[in-house]
Order: sequence, then structure tokens, then C-alpha cells
Amino acid sequence: MTRPSLALIAHDEKKAVMTAWATRYRDRLAQYNLYATGTTGGRIREACPELQVTLLKSGPLGGDQQVGALICESKIDCLIFFVDPLSPHPHDVDVKALTRLALVYDIPMALNPTTADYIMRGLATA
Ligand code: PGA
Repeated sequence: MTRPSLALIAHDEKKAVMTAWATRYRDRLAQYNLYATGTTGGRIREACPELQVTLLKSGPLGGDQQVGALICESKIDCLIFFVDPLSPHPHDVDVKALTRLALVYDIPMALNPTTADYIMRGLATA
């Protein structure tokens, strides 16, 4: 079985939540191919230096679109995207495009930590 590939993204107000979540699952995450938008990935690397995270562009600079392209190419099996619903974002259209592609390609997508926990219970390891 190949290693599942996860994409990890968190809006600014959710980055601390993401690093706490990643730290909680660090042993599991070590068994996956990890992709992350620039700032989110940097924070995860700081919190969990042992994790191999492929850093993409920062979200507002195209990182969300890069994740969407990877989904189109069947290179992402699961999207964990902690969205901040209480702040406006300059790249809102990219966020919408990314979540749309996750729906089009029918991959598991968590937009909050509780759903991400459910997904981790069901996601196979390598
Ligand atoms: P970032 O991007 O990880 O580079 O902050 C996340 C986003 O806002 O899409």
C-alpha cells in the first residue's frame, strides 16, 4: 500500500490549532506524505521537526491553488484545511476553488479539527 498524501492548510487565526493538531497526530503524520502551504508548513515543521513536509507557496500567493492542482493530479488523498470563518481573506476565491476541487475529486476534507479527528480514525496507514 502506498503512503497516503495529506495536504495541511490553516488560516492565520487557526495556525495554533493546526500545530496543536499536528503535534497530537505527529506519529501518524510521520507515516504520510505531507504537503502544506508555506506558513502553515513552516509552523508545523517548527512544532514537529521530525515531520517531512513539502512546502508549497503561501496560500494568498497561490499555495491553495497548488494544492488544488495536486488534487486534480490525484496526488493528494486528504485535505485538512482549518478555515477561519470569522475573518475576511484576500484569497477567498482560491479557498472556494480548492474546496470545490476536493468535492469534485471526492477526497476526504476536514475544515475543522473535529472532522479531522474523525478522518484520522478512518485513514489507513502505509
Ligand atoms: P499559509 O496559507 O499557510 O501560507 O498561511 C494558508 C492560507 O491562508 O491559505
